[in-house]
Amino acid sequence: MVTRILIIEDEKQLARLMELELTHEGYQVAVEYNGVDGLDRLKEEEFQLVLLDIMLPELDGIEVCRRIRRFSEIPIIMVTAKDGISDKVKGLDIGADDYITKPFAIEELLARIRALLRRQQNGYQEDNLLQAGDLTVDTSRYQVKRAGEVIKLTKKEYDLLVYLLKNKGIVLSREEILNEIWGYDYLGETNIVDVYIRYLRSKIDEPFSKKLIQTVRGVGYVLRDDQK
Ligand code: CA
Repeated sequence: MVTRILIIEDEKQLARLMELELTHEGYQVAVEYNGVDGLDRLKEEEFQLVLLDIMLPELDGIEVCRRIRRFSEIPIIMVTAKDGISDKVKGLDIGADDYITKPFAIEELLARIRALLRRQQNGYQEDNLLQAGDLTVDTSRYQVKRAGEVIKLTKKEYDLLVYLLKNKGIVLSREEILNEIWGYDYLGETNIVDVYIRYLRSKIDEPFSKKLIQTVRGVGYVLRDDQK
């Protein structure tokens, strides 16, 4: 899988240099020159890591970091020109994972990126976080979020969503869903799956422009995040 890194840095030369070096290392890199655009980009696309400059025009890096943490647990490395301890501490306090001080050797940056990605792969995120576009389910906390907003689901709706997410991109028949969520011995209404899909849609899809749950006529349902 390609690792995508977002650089949020207003110094164009430095941004360009990091982009070249990271691309050379095999990462797929995107660059935004201010915090607002960076946040928008993160909400729209999937990345595995963010390099976030602290001194940014309008919205500074600290505030950008704070806002990212409202909707994402993505690894963040703060990039700071200041050598001030307070900036670093502040960055780590509000959820940044690491920081690097300018000027830095590119090798050091690469080492930090590798370390953080490794930590991420082995740790928390892989096990507990299910994601499709801007929808995340943290199964360790039973927490569902879309575009940063916490969404309350009933137990059955939650189970259904987790099942769809674990089978992202795979069409599931009504029967498969019924057996998985309600069990083989379920004897109630046969349209229960459609009813619960409707409940779920009203909460996680209807308020948002991009729909994740799709009906496959005559078969069942699929959750997809790969179309606009
Ligand atoms: Ca800057």
